[in-house]
Order: sequence, then C-alpha cells, then structure tokens
Amino acid sequence: MSRILVTSALPYINGIKHLGNLAGSMLPADVWSRFKRAQGHELLYICATDEHGTPAELAAAAAGQDVATYCDEQHEIQKRAGEAFGLSFDWFGRSSSVQNRRLTQDFAQALEASGFIEERVDRMIYSVDDARFLPDRYVEGTCPHCAHVGARGDQCDNCGRLLDPTDLIAPYSAVSGSTALEVRDTRHLYLLQTKLEQPIRDWIESKTGWQTLAKSIALKHLDEGLIDRGITRDLKWGVPVTGPDGGPRPGMEGKVFYVWFDAPIEYIAATQEWAEATGGTWRDWWRTDEGAEDVRYVQFMGKDNVAFHTVGFPATIIGSGQPWKTVDQLKAFNWLNWYGGKFSTSQKRGVFMDQALEILPADYWRWYLTAYGPEHSDTAFTWEQFQGAINKDLADVLGNFVNRIVKFAESKFDGVVPEGGEPGPVEAQLEIDLRAAIAEATEQFEAMEFRKACQAIRAAWVLGNEYLQEAAPWTALKTDRDRAAVGVRTGLNLVALFARLAAPVLPVSAKTITASVGATDLSWPEAGEAWLDVIEPGRPIAHQGVLFAKIEDVQVADWTQRFGGAPAA
Ligand SMILES: [Zn+2]
Repeated sequence: MSRILVTSALPYINGIKHLGNLAGSMLPADVWSRFKRAQGHELLYICATDEHGTPAELAAAAAGQDVATYCDEQHEIQKRAGEAFGLSFDWFGRSSSVQNRRLTQDFAQALEASGFIEERVDRMIYSVDDARFLPDRYVEGTCPHCAHVGARGDQCDNCGRLLDPTDLIAPYSAVSGSTALEVRDTRHLYLLQTKLEQPIRDWIESKTGWQTLAKSIALKHLDEGLIDRGITRDLKWGVPVTGPDGGPRPGMEGKVFYVWFDAPIEYIAATQEWAEATGGTWRDWWRTDEGAEDVRYVQFMGKDNVAFHTVGFPATIIGSGQPWKTVDQLKAFNWLNWYGGKFSTSQKRGVFMDQALEILPADYWRWYLTAYGPEHSDTAFTWEQFQGAINKDLADVLGNFVNRIVKFAESKFDGVVPEGGEPGPVEAQLEIDLRAAIAEATEQFEAMEFRKACQAIRAAWVLGNEYLQEAAPWTALKTDRDRAAVGVRTGLNLVALFARLAAPVLPVSAKTITASVGATDLSWPEAGEAWLDVIEPGRPIAHQGVLFAKIEDVQVADWTQRFGGAPAA
C-alpha cells in the first residue's frame, strides 16, 4: 500500500462550472481517487477555489458585492455543487486563505534569496480619476487590429488577439469610464524563469511516468523559450507583496502577487488548511525531507493548464531550492464541446453543474463523462449520444441485469439467496471471462485510461447478462431446482461484484446495488478472490426499485430546447 496525493486544477471562483470543466479535471480525479482508495491505499484528494485576480474583482463589482463577500458565497456554491456530484475531496480549500497568503510570501522570499526574483520598472496605465494603476481588463478601448470598440486590455473579444493595455486606441477606465489616463512608471517583481530553464528541462526529462500529451506540451513550451514573468499586479484583492525579510516592501505598497503565482501554491496551502481543520499532518505529504519521498503525487487538469503545471509552477518550486514534493504523474484532458461549439453562459449553450443535477442524478452524468469523456481528443457532447449511452450501458446492461435476477430470486426463492447445487462448466467459464475483464479494468485504471477502464467494466456487466441467458434459471426451475439455485446464487454474487466494479464511477448506485443483496463491501475486486462465492445461501435480498430510468425522446427534445442542441441548419 502506498500514499497517494491527488490534486485537480483549481476551478476559478467566478460562477458555477460547466460539464466540460468537470469532465476535464475534477471528475476523473475523483473517479481515480475512489479506485485507489477501494484498493486500500491511503489517498489525499485536495482541490480549492482559485479566488484572486481581475475577473474576481470585476465579477464582484458587477454583482454589487465586495470581493471577499462575493468569494465567500461563490466558494460555498461550488463546494455544494462538488458534493452533490459526489466529488470526494478530502479538502476543498480557498486560495484566499491565510495559509496560502503566508506560503506564497514565503516562496517569494526564498526565490528572491536564491536570486530568481528582481524588481523591474514597467510602464503601465494610471487612471488619474480612480487614483490607481489599471491592469489587464481594467482598461478598455478600441482594438488596434480590428477597430472593435470595447476591447479589453488583455485581449480583443472580436478578433481574439492578445493585447497589452497600452496598445488600445482611445483607452478608458473600466472602473469609472474616465479617459484621464496616463502611462506611468511603476515597479513590479519578475520571476527570472530564463535562469531556471535548464533545471526545469532536466527535471522534466527525469520524469518517466508522465503521459505523452503532458510531456510534449511541456517540452514544446520550453523549446519556445521561457520569459521572465511579472508576478505582481496593481490590485487590492490578493496576496500582498512583501520584502526580502517578509515585511512590507517600500515602493510596492498596495500591490499583490499575480493570481498565477499564488494559485498553484494553494495545492500545498489547502493541505495545510486540511491538516489544521482535521488534526492531520501536511508536511509528510509535501516535504521530501519529512516523509513525502514515498508519496506518489498525481495531478489532473485540462490541456490548457499543462504548461503551467509542468513549467510555471515547477519554476517556483525548483527555484525555491527547498525540498518540496513535485508531480510524479499528470493526466491531461482535451475539451468537451457542446455540439462542436463552446459552452456559453450568455448564449445558453450547454449544461452547468447545478442544472445537470436538476434533471438527472449525478451517476448518469458521471458515467457518460467518464466513459465517453474528452480523453484523447476533443469530444462533442450531444443529447443523442448521452441518451444512447445511458439507455444502453446503465439501463439495459447494468440496471436490467440487477433488476432481473434480484426480482426473480425474490419471487421464486422467498427473498433469500438459495442453497443447493454445485457450480458447473458454465460457471467455470464465466469465472475465466470475468477474470480477463476485471484484469483489463484494473490495468486501464492503473494507467489512468478512463474510457478503456469503463469499457472493461461494461464488458463484465455484459458477461452477467450472457450468463443469465445461458443458465436460464427460470427455465431450469421447472425441471431442476438445484440447477436453478446455482444460477440464481451466481447471479446474486455477480450483482455484488458489479457494484464493486461500478463504485469508482457510480458511487451512489453502487451502494443501492450492493444493498439489494445485503452486502456492503465496495472494495475493488482482487485477482485471487472467489467472486462467485461471497454472497452465502440464506442471506435476505431486497429489490431496490428501478436503478436507471431510460431517457425518453420527449426529454431529449425538452432539454435541447432548454439548454441548446445542434445549431439550426
Ligand atoms: Zn480586435
């Protein structure tokens, strides 16, 4: 048994996340964490909301709230949505925590002491009327490339080009609308990534466990050349910039660290939050000089976040010169699209986490997004494919199997697991086939190949249906009660086994299924177990009702209207 640390990319604070965000980091991290815990490993799954930066300040202003109150509320909303989806975080923290403030300042101090941070003078836009510098999106104006009016200081929404606020024509303050803007000199801290290029490259090349997608993105980023990065901003909301001694920094009062600098440090700080709240210890998870040497650290994220986790955050860690645990394995996901386009709140395209649970239980979504997720290429969500997957995999294959055998045993064998008879060649062959399917599911989960793992789990469920067809206890009952008893007993053992296989992806349904045969064990099946001889004769069983309702065409039509579907031809 090993100790495993899992983190998933931190969801940004401004609003509830859509299904693509869920499918690309938090859900697979949860499924894999459940799989590893079910094998008996000690595992810590950490996530948090990413709360600093301009978008949070602007969203709070738009909501008429101060930013701290806005973040308090939004954090609770996201935490509740995660829990409702069965995301089994050990801790869901906040990057605005005191722990993260302290640790971010400590990292900056260590980086500066090692010569990797320096002060530079930037020319930035200052608003006379607002009495402040205006970073990024705080300046708007006319795009110099396409003449779009209302382009933001960091990017033009019309032509998509990245901008610097000083590029804008006829700029004005997004805070007050004032055009009394000047370009002024202001001091900022820079992280000298150019000096860290070789150590980062050596570190990446030493990593043998990374998937190809992650490694190739990381090396491409390095090949393009690192730049020294400004890590401070003129904002009020964030981690205050401190001096080399950890105290105030003369000339940089009122500045904070850039959100990209403090957000990943929250992985560590959230573990501190967890330790302080639960009486756990965090240092043996993160400090390789204090026990973290034997921890396996796995990160889950969307592909847009890979360069940041393989180069950006490692620059902070490696540059600190301190013995921090770094990532052993990365699992990156592609995009989940909505009918080939983007999810969009404003255009009402796509389903967001809270809406999804208004129409169907979490397990339906968890199955579809894991078994058909954007794992090796971008994938388009369509209602039709979703309907097909739920109806075939969950209703017809798993649900129908459990339903049939439990109901039959209830009505024909007095609601208990029947005794009598001996397993024969049909059961022996079933056991061989199951071994292959379960070995495949285990191997694919170990390799973090979620689609393939789900295919193998489904293949095991199919074996159950094929077995019932062949053993046909309802026919055998007319002539050979013992033979029928063997079929029913084997079928009820399969019910218990299928629940264990389903549990990482379908945690709620797995509990219901296992309860129908009076069992509670949801550990991952081990190769040496006698799977078909666990549910002993005489144990009471009880049908739990329909497990998975089929999705009807009328529902698809209704949801297409409500959430959008294929673009009109
Ligand atoms: Zn433009």
